[in-house]
Amino acid sequence: AKAAGRNTQRFFDPDMQAAVNARSNLEADLRQGLARAELLVYYQPVVDHQARLMGAEALVRWRHPQRGMIGPADFIPLAEQTGLILPLGQYVLQTACAQLQRWSRHPDTAGLSISVNVSARQFRQPGFVAQVLHQLKSHGADPRRLKLELTESLLLGDIEDTIARMAQLKSEGVGFALDDFGTGYSSLSYLKRLPLDQIKIDQSFVREVLADPNDAAIVRTILALAKSLDLQVVAEGVETTGQLSFLQLHGCEGFQGYLFGRPGPVADIDAFLHPAG
Ligand code: C2E
Ligand code: CA
Ligand code: CA
Ligand code: CA
Repeated sequence: AKAAGRNTQRFFDPDMQAAVNARSNLEADLRQGLARAELLVYYQPVVDHQARLMGAEALVRWRHPQRGMIGPADFIPLAEQTGLILPLGQYVLQTACAQLQRWSRHPDTAGLSISVNVSARQFRQPGFVAQVLHQLKSHGADPRRLKLELTESLLLGDIEDTIARMAQLKSEGVGFALDDFGTGYSSLSYLKRLPLDQIKIDQSFVREVLADPNDAAIVRTILALAKSLDLQVVAEGVETTGQLSFLQLHGCEGFQGYLFGRPGPVADIDAFLHPAG
């Protein structure tokens, strides 16, 4: 009786109940937010070794009517658990395709590409390949300007299916990046088998690259590996010229981080191309 009493008490723990309520409120809010167009796509510049703009990464934001701007870390996990990641991902993809089409009309921006984050659940959904091709086609966007960013979590699932889906999209020109490289489950043999174009060095390695010899060794190793596998590398989270010099010295050719620009509305990308008026 005593144990049951404790269990009952735990079940009605007000803190826990509050957490459950907060979660379901957030879920209902997010569902509504999607319907009410409260989700926005921000773009962060990706530059080459001469700081020339190569493209941008699409990063979702939620402009919540009461809570203000919310970053993806606070709602992507919930979206993944509830399946809302499917309409959300679709929305980001469609926004990116429309943007690519707009950029294609001006010589200054026609060469830019957009990288879109795709969660494992979204990638595995039946019809994902057809959906991407449909969005590209209906917006008149060039598939060669779209890059899909996948994470190593995808490697936990059916690898043959993953390769087949990637190959179908690749044959239409769509590119692939392996995001957050080094933080997950990647096995080097998979790295060789996946039809990737790019790997992104996670910002956790870049942050201390000058201070921590282990991080420096990891970054150098990733760059050497990518070179021998003929993969392009983009370093994330580049905030200082010191980090940039280290990365350049070891052969990195793509950079993303606050040093070059924060994620912002698409107009910021135009400002990047045409500084100060
Ligand atoms: P990510 O794909 O690794 O994106 C890079 C994150 O690093 C972004 O955070 C970006 O704002 C941040 N960042 C960029 N440069 C710097 C820097 O110099 N210093 C620091 N400290 N941070 C920097 P954000 O926008 O909060 O996105 C967080 C994560 O949410 C993303 O990590 C991605 O995993 C996920 N995410 C964002 N948009 C989407 C989306 O449309 N779909 C999916 N499935 N996930 C998304
Ligand atoms: Ca990413
Ligand atoms: Ca990343
Ligand atoms: Ca990350």
